[in-house]
Amino acid sequence: MTTPLRVAVIGAGPAGIYASDLLIRNEEREVFVDLFEQMPAPFGLIRYGVAPDHPRIKGIVKSLHNVLDKPRLRLLGNIEIGKDITVEELRDYYDAVVFSTGAVADRDLNIPGIEAEGSFGAGEFVGFYDGNPRFERSWDLSAQSVAVIGVGNVGLDVARILAKTGDELKVTEISDNVYDSLKENKATEVHVFGRRGPAQVKFTPQELKELDHSPTINVVVDPEDIDYDGASEEARRASKSQDLVCQILEQYAIREPKDAPHTLQIHLFENPVEVLQKDGKVVGLRTERTSLDGNGGVNGTGEFKDWPVQAVYRAVGYKSDPIDGVPFDENKHVIPNDGGHVLTAPGAEPVPGLYATGWIKRGPIGLIGNTKSDAKETTDILIKDAVAGVLEAPKHQGEEAIIELLDSRNIPFTTWEGWYKLDAAERALGEAEGRERKKIVDWEEMVRQAREAPAIV
Ligand SMILES: Cc1cc2nc3c(=O)[nH]c(=O)nc-3n(C[C@H](O)[C@H](O)[C@H](O)COP(=O)(O)OP(=O)(O)OC[C@H]3O[C@@H](n4cnc5c(N)ncnc54)[C@H](O)[C@@H]3O)c2cc1C
Repeated sequence: MTTPLRVAVIGAGPAGIYASDLLIRNEEREVFVDLFEQMPAPFGLIRYGVAPDHPRIKGIVKSLHNVLDKPRLRLLGNIEIGKDITVEELRDYYDAVVFSTGAVADRDLNIPGIEAEGSFGAGEFVGFYDGNPRFERSWDLSAQSVAVIGVGNVGLDVARILAKTGDELKVTEISDNVYDSLKENKATEVHVFGRRGPAQVKFTPQELKELDHSPTINVVVDPEDIDYDGASEEARRASKSQDLVCQILEQYAIREPKDAPHTLQIHLFENPVEVLQKDGKVVGLRTERTSLDGNGGVNGTGEFKDWPVQAVYRAVGYKSDPIDGVPFDENKHVIPNDGGHVLTAPGAEPVPGLYATGWIKRGPIGLIGNTKSDAKETTDILIKDAVAGVLEAPKHQGEEAIIELLDSRNIPFTTWEGWYKLDAAERALGEAEGRERKKIVDWEEMVRQAREAPAIV
């Protein structure tokens, strides 16, 4: 009889949860998975990235619950791999390790003035409003005019949260400290900047359309910013979604302005070149007008414009952090891999027993749904390797061995049962105010609720 495989999956975001599900459901080998997570709670960027006013997307958690409820899958939270337990140590306990550690840091934007006071990475602001215990607990929202650099969905999230009122967001799961800052928000003008045109923006249609649902936001696009060249027309024909995005932008450009207290203007063909500052503080953003080059790219026109804004948020992408003991591609900010099999370096040979999936494998692009097909590719390779007998059996066997290691280090790890307790505590806080949930943002309190609250029956 073959011994069951023991696999450690690192990171309980969607990629790690989908990969765990595929592993325990595969029909070739019996697999037990331990899903490690550094935060006291699972769900990765669904909990700490997806905007609080996107309850439908946050609701994906419900289907992930079904996976985590399954036998043969065990959540071990509040454990940072690479720090609390090294990767080398893990390999003594598991036949294989799958990294699904995602991305949290902001990518840099190298323009003069970007370091000024009042210039932020979108991810920092997202971490704040989504109640990530590792981020700021209050936010200065005294700027009346704000610039958001970047025309992807994260840029839209940040712009929308800045353009909404605190009271509009109070019905969501935001915590009290977040509401306290948001209710003081003075922004009445939010300007979103992209250097290329409508056929090149990275928004998805639903998110772009949804901007207009808030009664307090007037979404504006200048008709001058709608332009296409041959390559842009081709991009529209090739992608139904891109074509829809162009149609929505065109509608915003031609309609009568809505009577609303806040304006959210999407500026296209404006390339941010400098954050203007006075006494070290943001006082504006300088952009250069661009025009299409015939191939879907743009050239600068030499025409500059200064936008008086008091805060700048750059939403130019996320980047992953390296994990000690695992190869890392410093250029692409991913674990080098071939279809999910970790490589010693980009283009080099595979590392037996190590795999990657999700944003740490592909880079920070794509929606939650994309992590599912991605996980399939990785887990297929892992199972194939297991069947081929190329995985080395771990030194320590049995499911208790790792728990003994954790206990010997006094690591206050959280479990799936603990999530039920924390979940119940957050729901109770929300219910008291007539909403579905109110997030707990204090790390110690999250651990306390997960470990010490009475069991849910
Ligand atoms: C601001 C924002 C808004 C978004 N909104 C949407 C949306 O509305 N709809 C949509 O479909 N997609 C959205 N996305 C994209 C979606 O969040 C990603 O596609 C998805 O979360 C990527 O999954 P992942 O599992 O690879 O990474 P993550 O979700 O980042 O999960 C990685 C997990 O690994 C953990 N981890 C990291 N390092 C370690 C370590 N050393 N030890 C243990 N654990 C570790 C992290 O804590 C985290 O829980 C959004 C993304 C962002 C950034």
